[in-house]
Amino acid sequence: MKTALEWKTYYSSPEFREHYIYEKNDLGVSCTDSGTSFKLWSPSADSITLNLYHEGNGGEAYAHISMEKQDKGVWSWFSHDNLNGVYYDYTLMLEGEEVRSADPYAYACGVNGRRSMAVDLKRTDPEGWENDRAPEKGTEQIIYELHVKEFSWDPSGGFPEQYRGKYKAFTCPDTTLFGDGIHPTGIRYMKDLGVTHVQIMPAYDYGSVNEAGKDTEFNWGYDPVNYNVPEGSYSTDPAHGEVRIREMKEMIQALHSQGFRVIMDVVYNHTYSLDSWFQRTAPWYFYRVFDDGRISNGSACGNDVASEREMCAKYILESVLYWTEEYHIDGFRFDLMGLLDVDLMNRIRRELDVRYGKGEKLLFGEPWSAADTAMEGRAVPALKKNIGLLDENIGMFCDDTRDAVKGSALKIKRPGFINGAAGKEKDIVRSAQAWCEPERERTGADSDSFTGVRAPSQVITYVSAHDNQTLWDKLAETLPETDAAERMRLNRMAAALYMTCQGSLFFLSGEEFARTKNGLEDSFNAPIALNRLDWKQAWENRPLVEYYQGLIALRTRLPGLCDKSARASERITNIEISEGLISFEVDNRSEAGEQKWDRLKIIYNSTREYRRAVAATGRWAVLCDGENSRLWTSVKYADSDLHAAPQSVLILGRLADKIEGGTGSAGAGVMEEETAENETWEKQAV
Ligand code: CA
Repeated sequence: MKTALEWKTYYSSPEFREHYIYEKNDLGVSCTDSGTSFKLWSPSADSITLNLYHEGNGGEAYAHISMEKQDKGVWSWFSHDNLNGVYYDYTLMLEGEEVRSADPYAYACGVNGRRSMAVDLKRTDPEGWENDRAPEKGTEQIIYELHVKEFSWDPSGGFPEQYRGKYKAFTCPDTTLFGDGIHPTGIRYMKDLGVTHVQIMPAYDYGSVNEAGKDTEFNWGYDPVNYNVPEGSYSTDPAHGEVRIREMKEMIQALHSQGFRVIMDVVYNHTYSLDSWFQRTAPWYFYRVFDDGRISNGSACGNDVASEREMCAKYILESVLYWTEEYHIDGFRFDLMGLLDVDLMNRIRRELDVRYGKGEKLLFGEPWSAADTAMEGRAVPALKKNIGLLDENIGMFCDDTRDAVKGSALKIKRPGFINGAAGKEKDIVRSAQAWCEPERERTGADSDSFTGVRAPSQVITYVSAHDNQTLWDKLAETLPETDAAERMRLNRMAAALYMTCQGSLFFLSGEEFARTKNGLEDSFNAPIALNRLDWKQAWENRPLVEYYQGLIALRTRLPGLCDKSARASERITNIEISEGLISFEVDNRSEAGEQKWDRLKIIYNSTREYRRAVAATGRWAVLCDGENSRLWTSVKYADSDLHAAPQSVLILGRLADKIEGGTGSAGAGVMEEETAENETWEKQAV
């Protein structure tokens, strides 16, 4: 066998590129009543046999069929029958060795994904699928990160026993705490919370959980085996390949019908094992190797997928398009996007825009890698420092905002602005502007912080995700002496702070109920008992949940903060900074219609003292303070003695003139109706 480096040299040769880059998009299996077509790209194979089986695992093949070699390294076979439900794999002769492989392009598979399955995809559609549509895009994206099993595992969620931990749990719209009929959990809880997008952690077929094993097995799933197949352990029957497909579609359909868009977490940067279907059918083509022969491991998971190679880029692009077309996915979160190249990300963006409209499908990712990677040629990695090279509708998780607010995710004892760090004020202002400062004044910013951000649409504003400690645990870590009341106050402050920053909003499910993992930083394979959402806690910490609800509802009414255009940061003016105290104003006018509040004043007070908040002239109302995020639902004047409470965010809104006269105006929406009768023009007492 050739060495990795020899393969790499061969694939980089003009001769290979001329003869083996396949352009059509019909690899894999297409299965309909017109027949079933098998196509596999394997440029170096000497022969390939297609093996057909009745079962997804075990048993002998009932047929062995010699594949025919076509141009461009493609092998094919066609049957006039609809082979729906037939399992298959390939035996390849490659460099004199016999290799068995499933199909890297497969749309369905048997248990644990070791054998592929031909599937007539139309037959997997749940009832009403042809009418499935994503809800309209709102004024803001508020993304809620969820794991399929974590969502419904705990008995407190009140889900039917047989659906716990499964896709099917999402089809239960009215679950309540232990089924008490009173306290919503699950879908209804999320609707009340007001999030707009549900981001599902890996739900393609991954390898770290035995689909035939115990239900208690748990993993986040960042270890892909079959990129174009749903994970089997979330289905009620992983042994029958069509079931997981139908049930995942049912999950998406249910989420759409309940008003959520669905984002898929995709991990194209590495595979579960280097001994993958990619590797078995095209050795080393899909992986990076350093020039000295070392295997590239920028993912810290043993291998790096070579996104810059033509057939690999094509694979990733077609996979994304497949999930949007077949499963109606509304957006993608790219794991370790910094390992993929800028050209591919922009190409995916363009293709999605052409098909669905500009920016309609969300696209964002982690702009970093775990270590150096052996990206080839002139390819440029989609790292943070290259944000200016990416389309303005490709977003990046903003670690600078995350760390400025509550301290470094990696250095766990290190605090941020809210929990006592000095000198973070300028970074907090940059966070509010989604790192798009109008003046480009970079003094004081870390050299590796975001520069060249084109628009807030490129920034995912967040303080917690599945990685690293939960917000609650981080607060406990950095302030071990404080009591629960202070941590709650700081949790509210963190939430109000990042929800008044520009950019798209994102948070880990349960952040809003003080979710804890007992301080564990990396719970990827910790027991489900630790990882599951505890719906009891969601009700025990109800005041915090309600604070988040109010903030989310308020945010969607503030176009000055939701603006994703390149000049949005110019709305932020009158910035004043002193130690532990920041205030600024926001132009809240919108082309979409007049707003209840034409101007906002926002104050972040991380000190332990009351701080006077002087507002400019005009009639200002208190929209949110450190305790109550629903003050905006009735009108309370801010007077000249108004103070921001210790460790709190205060949000004021200037009442637009036309509203003052009581005339109706577009854009004020619900507020108008609510205030018409209930308005109490009392002064805010502090
Ligand atoms: Ca699996």
